[in-house]
Parts: sequence; structure tokens; C-alpha cells
Amino acid sequence: MSDATPSIESVGVIGAGQMGNGIAHVAAQSGLAVTMIDVKAEALEKALSTIRRNMDRQVSKGTLQAGDRDAALARITTGTDMAMLSEADIVIEAATEREDLKKSIFKSLCPHLKPSAILATNTSSIPITRLGAATDRAPRFIGMHFMNPVPVMKLVEIIRGIATDDATYQATEALARRLGKTTATSEDFPGFIVNRILLPMINEAVYALHEGVGDVASIDTGMKLGTNQPMGPLELADFIGLDTCLSIMQVLHEGMGDSKYRPCPLLVKHVEAGWLGRKTGRGFYDYSGETPRPTR
Ligand code: NAD
Repeated sequence: MSDATPSIESVGVIGAGQMGNGIAHVAAQSGLAVTMIDVKAEALEKALSTIRRNMDRQVSKGTLQAGDRDAALARITTGTDMAMLSEADIVIEAATEREDLKKSIFKSLCPHLKPSAILATNTSSIPITRLGAATDRAPRFIGMHFMNPVPVMKLVEIIRGIATDDATYQATEALARRLGKTTATSEDFPGFIVNRILLPMINEAVYALHEGVGDVASIDTGMKLGTNQPMGPLELADFIGLDTCLSIMQVLHEGMGDSKYRPCPLLVKHVEAGWLGRKTGRGFYDYSGETPRPTR
């Protein structure tokens, strides 16, 4: 770290959903002071109980000491007021994936931040440069794209906007390493690196199903055992959420203007039907029984 690299000791997290609670978990476990903000007090309570449960599991596996769990939990403060982030060295925004919502969060947040504070977003698909331009600190704005579930997945994709400065990039990279993660750096193009490559593969699996090339079981078994992946693409799509998969394909399609990224009509139909994957009990698999059952 150069002298110009700001040191990070306190982290703000906005949004206490699946991603926000995971980010708060790893930050607190790494010794950082964490302030987690959400509009809904219930979301904060749920996030704290999820973090506690996940840390308890680490304790029972022997990967975390009970005393360290208690100290980590004590480092997390929660609230619904953005003014609580006035001392944060970095704020990581992990609220709902909607551009208007994220911009309005930045508008109310920025006046509370220290001038030196870095603002990072965990967006999966919104251009970093565009979000950064909606803040008072484009040079200190950056993409910090964690993978789900955050405490388990090793990667953080770091995305520089066109205006992001080097000190911000270095500090963000160092923070990701301090959280025990490995980084991959992407330029600010649609889908960044991971989703640009992963989602067209998933979309192609849905096309293979749609065109009757194979059934759900054959496509997933083929890709799992044939290419050594822990999950088949359709099972993975259900895990990510089919609405999320569709919205990332739409971002790739619109952002690149290339028909090779067109979302498969069967994926669109599933989303229209409300069959969004695991979270709704049905996607390419039916989750109502003991074990997931392929639907086609
Ligand atoms: P989620 O729906 O689980 O959580 C979003 C949270 O944001 C909710 O608790 C909601 O109450 C809160 N929120 C909404 N408006 C707010 C506001 N104005 N102020 C504060 N909090 C607000 O969503 P998630 O899956 O955790 O996704 C969050 C972000 O992470 C999105 O940008 C998403 O694209 C990105 N992401 C998601 C995944 C994934 O697999 N789920 C992976 C990588 C990145």
C-alpha cells in the first residue's frame, strides 16, 4: 500500500439482504467496525440472525473460535439512518438492483460521508461510471462485486469506472484481500467479467432445453460431469434466481447490441409465470418435495 492509499478500519454496508449480510459478516470477522443500514428494521434483524447462524455453523465446524464470533458480532452496529455512516472509511452499497433506487441512496448518503470516504457498489449489472457520475465523488467510486454466498465464495470482482482513481482502486483491492478474498479486475463493460461469461452459458443451457436438445437432467449432468462444474447450469440458474438471470441477459443484450445475447424465450416465460427458481419453490426444478425434481 502506498502512502496515498487510505486505510480502511470502518465499513458501512447499505442493504441488509442476502449480499449485505454476507459482506457485513466477512468484514466484522476480519476485525473491521461495521455499520449496516437498511430501510426496513425487520431486514436488519433478519440479517443479524442470519450472520449469527452462519457464524455458529463456522464455530461448530471448528473454523471460528466462539470468542472470535462474539467479538465479530459485537463489531456490527445496525440502523435505518444514513447519518450513522459519517465516520465510515468505505461504504459498500448492496441494496436492491435498481438504478433509480441506487442513485437516490447516493444522493441522500453523500452529504453524510467524510470527504475521503470511498463509495463502492455491489451492483451485478449497472455501469459503474454512470452510478459514479451520480455521486459527489466519481474518483472515489468503484465496483466491488461480491459473489453469493459471500462468506463462502472466494472472489471479489473489482470494477473501475472511467473516473476511479488509483488510490481508490488500491485501497479497495487491499480491503478485499483483508476480507480473505482473491480479486479479479474488470473494466466497466456490461456484465463485467464473470456474468458476461457465465450468463450466456446459462442462457444457452435454457435454449438447449427449449429446443429439445436434452432434458433438464441430461443438460445438468452433461455439464456437471462433462466439464467438471459443481452445479449444472439450470440448477445454478435456479440458485441465482431466474429473474436475476433474465435481467443480466437484458443488460448484456442492450449494452452490447448483439443478438448473441438475446434472452431465451423459455427463460422469459418462466419469469412471467413467477417460476423464479429456489426462492419461489419452482424454476427448472420443483423444490416442493424432499429432493429437487426436474420439471422437463
Ligand atoms: P436483497 O433483495 O436480498 O436485499 C436488498 C436489500 O436492500 C433489502 O433488505 C432492502 O430492504 C434493501 N433496500 C432497499 N432499498 C433500500 C434503501 N433505500 N436503503 C437501504 N436499503 C434498502 O438483494 P441482494 O441479492 O442482496 O442484492 C443486493 C445487491 O447485490 C444488488 O445490487 C445485486 O445485483 C447485487 N448482487 C447480488 C448477487 C446475488 O446472487 N444475489 C450477487 C452479486 C451481487
